[in-house]
Amino acid sequence: MDIQTGIRWMELFNEKVQQEKDYLTQLDTPIGDSDHGNNMSRGMAHVVEAIDTQSPNSLEELLKLVTTTLLSKVGGASGPLYGSAFMGMLKTYQGDGSSWSKVLQCGLESIQKRGKAEIGDKTMIDVWAPVVQAAENEQLTNEVIDEAVEATKPLKARKGRASYVGERSIGHIDPGAYSSALLFHAMLEAEAG
Ligand code: ADP
Ligand code: MG
Ligand code: MG
Repeated sequence: MDIQTGIRWMELFNEKVQQEKDYLTQLDTPIGDSDHGNNMSRGMAHVVEAIDTQSPNSLEELLKLVTTTLLSKVGGASGPLYGSAFMGMLKTYQGDGSSWSKVLQCGLESIQKRGKAEIGDKTMIDVWAPVVQAAENEQLTNEVIDEAVEATKPLKARKGRASYVGERSIGHIDPGAYSSALLFHAMLEAEAG
């Protein structure tokens, strides 16, 4: 991952979020409060705007900018959680120049530290965890990402708003899992050049 790829990653993520804004909202309707599309769309619009105006010229600067933008501009659970993810990535990236899968791993840990969700709780963690694992094994593909999203369907939510509907969360895809999939599809696309 370099700065050009990182910027492209965020631009592609923004495009996907804007394209799928209504679907994200739709997913957040039966098991949430119908705002995930708006939250992500507003947040990512601010991110690309900040990239345009501030022109970050290192990956560190980019990750910092994404972190502060998401933390300050996105409400709901997803703002602080995605913000934490990028903060975790930034910390590792600054720390020891370790591999990108290690950086993603730290993003995952940071979400878990903030939200206390485990694998199987029907959250974005259920996409982040298998993605990090596959990236470590150099086996991350679009299929791996989509399978992880689909696998949230039969789960009963134990964290976030969806946990309020209990059993009735079963049978629905988790909205944050879906938006995380957009993030990782965008990452693969940016890395492919
Ligand atoms: P809110 O639930 O506050 O309206 P959003 O609708 O934007 O926020 O985001 C909901 C998504 O956030 C969920 O689909 C889930 O993936 C994720 N989420 C909620 N709580 C947690 C948590 N504690 N840990 C990880 N992810 C969570
Ligand atoms: Mg919501
Ligand atoms: Mg909300």
